[in-house]
Amino acid sequence: MVNRIIVIGGGASGMMAAIIARRKGSDVILLERNDRVGKKLLTTGNGRCNYTNLNLSINNYHGHNPSFAEEALSEFNVDKTLEFFESLGITPADEDNGKVYPLSFQASSMLDVLRFEMEFQGVQVVTDAFVFEITKKNNFTVKLKDGRLFHSDKVILATGGMAMPVSGSDGTGYSFSRSLGHTVRDTFPGLVQLKLEGNIFKQINGVKFIGRAGIYHKNRLLVDDSGDILFTDYGISGPPILQISRKAIELMNMGHEAELRISIISSKPKDQIKDYLIRRFKNLYMKNMDEALVGMINKKLIIPILKELSIDKNIKVSDISIEQIDCLAGLLTSWSFKIIGNKGWGQAQVTAGGVNTDEIHSNTMESKLVKGLYIIGELLDIDGDCGGFNLQWAWSSAYLAGMNASI
Ligand SMILES: Cc1cc2nc3c(=O)[nH]c(=O)nc-3n(C[C@H](O)[C@H](O)[C@H](O)COP(=O)(O)OP(=O)(O)OC[C@H]3O[C@@H](n4cnc5c(N)ncnc54)[C@H](O)[C@@H]3O)c2cc1C
Repeated sequence: MVNRIIVIGGGASGMMAAIIARRKGSDVILLERNDRVGKKLLTTGNGRCNYTNLNLSINNYHGHNPSFAEEALSEFNVDKTLEFFESLGITPADEDNGKVYPLSFQASSMLDVLRFEMEFQGVQVVTDAFVFEITKKNNFTVKLKDGRLFHSDKVILATGGMAMPVSGSDGTGYSFSRSLGHTVRDTFPGLVQLKLEGNIFKQINGVKFIGRAGIYHKNRLLVDDSGDILFTDYGISGPPILQISRKAIELMNMGHEAELRISIISSKPKDQIKDYLIRRFKNLYMKNMDEALVGMINKKLIIPILKELSIDKNIKVSDISIEQIDCLAGLLTSWSFKIIGNKGWGQAQVTAGGVNTDEIHSNTMESKLVKGLYIIGELLDIDGDCGGFNLQWAWSSAYLAGMNASI
C-alpha cells in the first residue's frame, strides 16, 4: 500500500518536505490555511529571497540546543541546496557575507519553481484548509476548521512559528504539538527592531548611517554587528540591529537590563576621532558648535548629541574644553541607549523558542513521542541569524522529514 503523508503548512519547509516525500513515492497532501502557498516566502530578503548562505556554520543557529540542527544542515547542506534549486531553474547569485539569492532577485521565482515542482510531482495541494485538530489512533486524522477530515499514515507539521502572523504562521502549530504530547520552549521575537528609551527619536527618525551596534550587560559586550543602521520614531532598526536583537530580548526576558551602544562613526577609534575633532575645531574656530559639526555627522543628530552632552549649541568651538571634545568623541564611537522593548511579532523575521528539540530525532525530524509525526522548520526551537540561515534550516529539516517519512 502507498504511504500517505499529510504535510500541514505550505511555507518554505512544507513545500520542500512535500516535494521530497513525493519524489520518494509517497502519496502527499499539503494543507495550507491561506488561499495560496508560500505567502511569507514572497516577503523574504526584501522580496528578493536570501535562500541560503555560503558561510554557514552551526554558530549561526540558536535555541536551547543548537547542535540539534547539525545533522540536518550537513545532510542537506548548502551545496545540496544550491544544486536542488538549480535543478529547478534557480541560478544562484551570491552577494556580501555569503548571502545567496536567485539571480532574478525575485522571491516570487523561488515560490514559482517550488509550486511548479509540486505540481509536476503530483503533490495534492489543498488551500483554504485551516487545520484545527490532529489526532492519532492507528493512523492520523487531521480535521479542518470547516469540518473536512483527512487521514494519513504520517504527518509532517510545518506550520511555522509566530513571526509575521499575517502570513499565516500565528502559532497554531504549538497547540497541535502540545495536544500530541510535546513541550514548547518559551517563544519570543527574533531578528526584530528595538525600542529605545528617550524623547529624541521623533527628531532623528530616518537618520541612516553605517555603524556598529553592540548589546551590553553590566558593561560587558555580549554581541555586536555592523552595517546600515537606521534611527526610527520608536528607536532603531537595520540589519545589525535585527542580528543582535535576540540577545537583548533574551536578557530582558530574564529580567535584566539590556544596553545598546552604537558607534555613529565606526571607521576610526575614539582617540583618532578626538584628535581629528581637535584639528577640526582649530580650523573652524569662528563657528558655533552646532555649525562646526555640519558635514561630519548627519545634521539631524547634531542638536540631540549636543543636548545629551550638555554642550551649548551656541558656544564657540574655540571655547570648548578638551574634556568636552573627549566626551563628544566618546559618544560618536559609543552612544548608549536603554532598550525598552521590541517591535513584536508583526515585525519579527523569526521565532526564537518553539517545540522542544529533545523530543525530536535529529537525524529524521520524527517525534520521539508520536511515531509517524515529523516536526520541521521554524516551529522547532531552532532559529538562525539574518542572512539566509532560517530558510536553509527550513530546507534542511524538511529534506530529512520528507525522506524519512517516506520510508
Ligand atoms: C519579512 C521576513 C523576511 C525574511 N527574510 C528571510 C530571508 O531573506 N532569508 C531567510 O533565510 N529567512 C528569512 N525569513 C525567515 C523565513 O522566512 C522563515 O524562517 C521560514 O519561512 C520558515 O519556514 P516555515 O516553513 O517553517 O514556516 P512558514 O514559512 O511560516 O510557513 C508556515 C505555513 O503554515 C501555514 N499554516 C500555519 N498554521 C496553519 C494551520 N493551522 N493550517 C494550515 N496551514 C497553516 C501558514 O499559513 C504558512 O503558509 C524572513 C522572515 C520574514 C517575516
